[in-house]
Parts: sequence; structure tokens; C-alpha cells
Amino acid sequence: MNIAVKSPTPPAVSANVKSWLAKPKKLLIGGEWVEARSGKTFAVEDPATREIIAQVAEGDAADIDRAVVSARKAFESGPWHRMLPAERAELVWRLGDLLAKYGDELAEIETLDNGKPITHARAVDVEGSAGMFRYMSGWATRLTGETIPVSSPGNWFAYTVREPVGVVGQIIPWNFPLMMAAWKLAPALSAGCTIVLKPAEQTPLTALRLGELIMEAGFPAGVVNIVTGFGETAGAHLAKHPDVDKIAFTGSTEVGKMIVASAAGNLKKVSLELGGKSPAIVFPDADLDTTVAGTASAIFFNMGQCCTAGSRLFAHKKVFDKIVAGLTSEAGKLHLGHGLNRETTLGPLVSEEQHRRVTGYIETGRKEGAEVVVGGSAVGNRGHFVAPTVLAKTNRDMTVVREEIFGPVVCVQPFEEDDLDNIARFANDTEYGLAASIWTQNLTRAHSLARMIKAGTVWINTHNWGDAALPFGGYKQSGWGREMGKEVMELYTETKSIGARLV
Ligand code: NDP
Repeated sequence: MNIAVKSPTPPAVSANVKSWLAKPKKLLIGGEWVEARSGKTFAVEDPATREIIAQVAEGDAADIDRAVVSARKAFESGPWHRMLPAERAELVWRLGDLLAKYGDELAEIETLDNGKPITHARAVDVEGSAGMFRYMSGWATRLTGETIPVSSPGNWFAYTVREPVGVVGQIIPWNFPLMMAAWKLAPALSAGCTIVLKPAEQTPLTALRLGELIMEAGFPAGVVNIVTGFGETAGAHLAKHPDVDKIAFTGSTEVGKMIVASAAGNLKKVSLELGGKSPAIVFPDADLDTTVAGTASAIFFNMGQCCTAGSRLFAHKKVFDKIVAGLTSEAGKLHLGHGLNRETTLGPLVSEEQHRRVTGYIETGRKEGAEVVVGGSAVGNRGHFVAPTVLAKTNRDMTVVREEIFGPVVCVQPFEEDDLDNIARFANDTEYGLAASIWTQNLTRAHSLARMIKAGTVWINTHNWGDAALPFGGYKQSGWGREMGKEVMELYTETKSIGARLV
């Protein structure tokens, strides 16, 4: 099957986004937009065309220091410190409303910066981010402690209160730039923390537009500080900063381990959302149409650049050929193109580095004996496009089965057994534990297997689904802690016990 980039040329960028891109992109520190201390900037490219679309301030350690001072000041004194929970809730909700109001513009910026199809950017990234702020706003007024019946001799009144953890550093990746900012900022703000946010160097733009909306919403100066720059400089300095109380990170497991080591200096709290190698397990009784479309989307959505991507597909021998044929056909239906074209369903990978990494993995797969059923190469001659790829004849020892590829590449394997213990064993045969999906109409099998899989999320007859109310995070090397839902508030609050002797 010949897969090509069908619409590489974008339509004209809207006038308001064009003029926004042309303006200087500075750091948000203490409520002001400022240049990096060094005066340096870096270029941001459109990954579909490789054209430079903006120059952004290159913050480093000196700028992180300034941002932490401003976050500390805003946390310890001033209007944020004195604000009532309902007032915080109102601000966080208002920010969600502003995201919805400027949704078209945010989606356009996200697509230009990251490459993702604009229809996805609008419906998933922007709507999901607006929804996250609105959902999380509700927790500001619901952070309750408990009264505790103690058994110590005497007359005691004991209770707990929940308090914001303090100054929080947040380091986010490039696959869902706006949404990752929302996932991190929304609960931290509702809890009453102040923040220094470091976006990924590949995709800093929507975070900067979000910074403008944060100021428009009326958050006091210094509550949210945004320092664009590089991981090795700005990110590393934030992770080890002695005046940061907590660091929240999403990205590679490799950098996650470095964050843990850096955080040890002042024993700051750490939460990590890392990689995955999620299995999709297809039983013979699964609804075939739903399963083919669902497992294709599990790996091709966002060009496979999802930490939860269904990258290991296990199909029962009875349906294996049909599933592989279905995936191949779905791959052929994808419309590769510039994300701003509304018919595009598969954009480029985010960067040259990611393109090299993903095509390198495909080559390694070939050398190790995998069969390329469809795709298997770079496509187009301008952007970082990779064809949607199905690899068969794969096994547990292959690099492509063991390591996170983070591209539109699925490894398919047949299985014969019906014993759920064995099935759980191969599903769990990975150092990761982020997500899994089970495709069957048998409820007993689905829910029994769901409990046997070591992953933070298990889907039944769907994949890559989530809701702001549902906790999300990883077992094993996929991370520490849970984002979203009620559980995320644990990450951004401390519990204080108060014991009073009643005399
Ligand atoms: P990284 O883990 O390097 O990047 C994630 C974030 O961490 C970015 O903001 C990055 O900054 C920052 N960072 C990098 N190095 C450091 C450091 N030493 N200290 C503090 N912060 C740092 O991911 P990559 O972009 O290199 O992608 C590599 C692989 O990681 C992907 O192929 C994929 O497998 C995985 N990944 C997983 C994600 C997930 O959602 N779980 C998301 C992204 C990647 P900057 O980019 O500015 O240098």
C-alpha cells in the first residue's frame, strides 16, 4: 500500500494568530512579560513544513531563580494567600471559560506548533483543557479534613486540615502541550499553590498564550510563572531548586529518574507521569468493527505520541488475520497532511529528533525480524511525517516490543490461550504500567482481566478515553501518583493534624 502525504501545504494562518506569532515571546514572571536574563531566544518550527514560526525567550537557571522568588512571594503574602476558596474556584473556572472563548485560536496555535490535526486540537486538547479547569475549580471549596476519634487518655479534640503544598515546579512535554499545562495548573491552582511552569522546548506556544489568559482571568501576579527554555538548563534547575516544595513532571522515564535524583536535595515532593507500552488485548468475541477502529485509533491517534498508545496489540489467533487486515486498511484511510487542513487525520511527528527516533525503531524492528505489514518508512519531503506502521512477527524479546516508540507503530502478536492468568502475564510483561485495553463482549472476562493487569488505567472496548474526574497515572516505571479526579489534590496539598487538649 502506498502511503503518501496528501496535503502538505497549509491553508493561510488566520490574521490574529499571525499577528500573535509575530509578537515577542517572553517569560511570564511576577505578572510581567520579561526577556530572559541572558537575552537569548530560540526558534520554534512548524513540524509539517520545518518553517520557523516564532522566536521564544530562552529562560535558564537565572530566570528560574527569579520565577521561584516571585512564586514564593505570591504564596507567602499578597492577595492569593488571603483569597477565599470560592474566590480561587471562580478564577480557575473563569480560566476554563477563557480557553473555550479563544478555543479556535488556541487550536490553531497548537496545530502549528505540534503538528496535530486541528480537528483533534480543537475537540480534544482545547475542550479537554477548558473542561479540566472547570472540573478542578470545584475542588477549591471541597478540600476538607476530618475529625479523628483518638484513644489517648484525656479529653482531646483532633482534626486534620489540608493545606497547599507551596511553590510547585511543573515540567511538561510536547505531545499535548496545552492539555498537559491544564492537567498540572488546574489542580495546583485550586489547591492554592503557586507555580513555575516549564513547557517543552518543541512546543512552548500555547503555554504562553495560556499565560496571557491567566493574566486576563485576574490571577494575582506571581501565582503562575512560565519559563520557556531547555530541559538541561531551566528544567534541571527547577527540579533541584531548594525553594521549590514540589515538582510535577510528565515525560520520559529516563528524565523522570533524573528528576527524582535532583529532588533529593531538599526532599521536595515528586509526582511523575512517564512512559508506557500499553497492551490492547483482543478476544475472538469482540465486535470486529469497533475493535478494528478502536485499536487503530489507540496507536495512530496523535501520531502515536501518546503515553497510553496501544503499542502492543495481542489478538486471539481466531481473529488475528482479520485484525491485522483491518488495521492495515485503517492505516490506508488516514489522511496525512498539514494539521491545519481540516481533512488531515495524521500529522507529522513533533520534531526531527522524534522522527529519527521512530524511524530508527522501525529499522531495528526489521533487523530483529519483524515483518512490516504496512508503512515502515518516512513519508513526504518536507515535514517529519512517518507512515502509520503495523509490525507483525514480533515477539517479547524485540526492542520494538520492549521500548516505548512514541510514534504510529504497532507491534501485533497472536495468542492462543484462554487462561486469563497467562494472558495477564504477557500483558504485564513490560517495565511500564500505564494503561491497557481489553476487547471482548464477555463481561466476566473483561472485568476479571482488568483486575489482573498491572496498569493505572484499564479500558474495556475503548482506548485512550479519559475524564477529568477519573484518576490517571502509572504502576511500575510509568510513574508516581495520580493526576485528575479527587486523587490529584493529594499531590498539591499537605495534611496537617491538629490536636487540642480540652482542659
Ligand atoms: P523528555 O522527557 O526529555 O521531555 C519532557 C520534558 O522534560 C520537557 O519539558 C523537557 O525539556 C524536560 N527535560 C528534559 N531534560 C530534563 C532534565 N534533565 N531536567 C528537567 N527537565 C528536563 O522527553 P523527550 O522530548 O526527549 O522525548 C523522549 C521520549 O520520552 C519520547 O520518545 C517518549 O518515549 C517519551 N515521552 C513521554 C511523554 C509522556 O507523555 N509520558 C511525553 C514526551 C515524551 P525540553 O524539551 O525543553 O528540553
